[in-house]
Amino acid sequence: MHRNFQIEIPDGAKFINELNTKPFVEIEGTNIYEPGYDCKPFGEYESPVDFPNCCAYHSSVKDNLDKWFLGFPNCCDNHKNIAKKRWFKIENYTNLNDKILKHISYSENFISISLDKENWFKEITDYIQYTIDSFGIPTIGGNQYYSYIENWIKKTKPTDFNFPKWKRELLIEYLENLTNQSDKTQTDLNILYSIFQKWLKTFPSLPFFIEHKEKLKNKFPLNFFLYEPEYNRFSGVTKFKCRTKGELIEFLIIITKESLKSINTPKLLENNFISSKDKYQIDLLNEEHILTQNKLLVDYSKKEIKYFKIIKKWLANEKKYIELIKPLLNTNKNLNLKNIQTSKKEVFITYSWDNESHKDKVLSFNNFLREKGFESEMDRSKTNGNTSLDFRKMMHNIITDYPKVIIVLSKGYKEKANDFKSGVGIEYDMIIKDFDKSVNKYILISFCDISDDIIPVFFREKEILDLRNKENQNILFSKLMNENIIEFSKVAENKPIITKKEISDFNDLIN
Ligand SMILES: [Zn+2]
Ligand SMILES: [Zn+2]
Repeated sequence: MHRNFQIEIPDGAKFINELNTKPFVEIEGTNIYEPGYDCKPFGEYESPVDFPNCCAYHSSVKDNLDKWFLGFPNCCDNHKNIAKKRWFKIENYTNLNDKILKHISYSENFISISLDKENWFKEITDYIQYTIDSFGIPTIGGNQYYSYIENWIKKTKPTDFNFPKWKRELLIEYLENLTNQSDKTQTDLNILYSIFQKWLKTFPSLPFFIEHKEKLKNKFPLNFFLYEPEYNRFSGVTKFKCRTKGELIEFLIIITKESLKSINTPKLLENNFISSKDKYQIDLLNEEHILTQNKLLVDYSKKEIKYFKIIKKWLANEKKYIELIKPLLNTNKNLNLKNIQTSKKEVFITYSWDNESHKDKVLSFNNFLREKGFESEMDRSKTNGNTSLDFRKMMHNIITDYPKVIIVLSKGYKEKANDFKSGVGIEYDMIIKDFDKSVNKYILISFCDISDDIIPVFFREKEILDLRNKENQNILFSKLMNENIIEFSKVAENKPIITKKEISDFNDLIN
């Protein structure tokens, strides 16, 4: 639907100054003008016979509208003010009383034919919204329209359709909310923005939040400010309802709880995501200090204090935990959280993503190992959930956590290995440093001919298994299981007796 908005800016200099200094400049609703449109009835519609003289109710509606319109625009203060605007032209409203009457009839009809539909509420309320919008901005005649519709919903006694009480009540509630909303939804985006930034500043800058925090600094994330969009099929308009000040704070409290809930410190310690317990302890102390400072310097409203308190309590609890657990982890090796792991880490397959077919081979190789009873893993995505972790650290964990690492050599692997900046390169660098220290840990394999094309320099003298050969598959299993293929004879219980050479007595020799 084509709508022709016009904006009047009363103070141009002030407006331009605000454009340069504020993140958002709002235009007073009273300076926006839009003329509206004529609605379509939608669905089957036939004007009632002799409308509006079809019945006492409709003829009285017509009488009242006509009487009101005689005085328009001097009927009330609201319309008197509107009439003073430069854009207001009385000739644009000559048939306003008839338009209201016609639209009342359309809506009554639409409601009566939609009540039995599954999605009756959305259909009807969307149609009402579409009709209210048709009276333009600011609404002229819209108030009359919905008070008559509300009245009709309350009182009509239909004979040709069913209008249950609960459906009437829901629609009345909807209409009453519409009237109240116009006063309370005045939300200044600048206020919302500053509320959000204040919250962001309060949120702890701990390692797992910091990247996210940096991204949102000075930003206005729309998903924080708007509700889910709603499409209205009659007007063709998708509306984003903006949160009010109170609703935004309510939302921030929920986000605070959810973000903090997502932090599982024991797990982070176990996976070495919190690499230094000392540093973490210092971070927590710093954050607690900053938070307390903020309390003195920043004005939190009564509602905002809620998230402030949640963060404060969380930090205190976290501090207590790390204080208690740190000495235990440092002194008692048996208590090392790493030993309490539940998932068994056995084999990790590393490869280069040369092309789809190569990847498929690796995938199927991984399956093959699992079917043979090896807890084999290949994808980094599992450890990649947290974006703030750097790749180096993640690779390091893989290399230290898995007793066996299978390296699939390929052309792509060789090329990337030589570039120390790529993922494979970083990993290759770590592997060659560890290779000779960790005997029997790394197993080199290939799915193609073994030639210089696929062998990075460091692996040249190492054993490489071409897995297309079944015998090599057997060797692979023996390596994974640390078992020798050649069975040696059982070791006898008694070792051979060594015949000792008799040594003559010293005195015998010298005498
Ligand atoms: Zn009637
Ligand atoms: Zn009026």
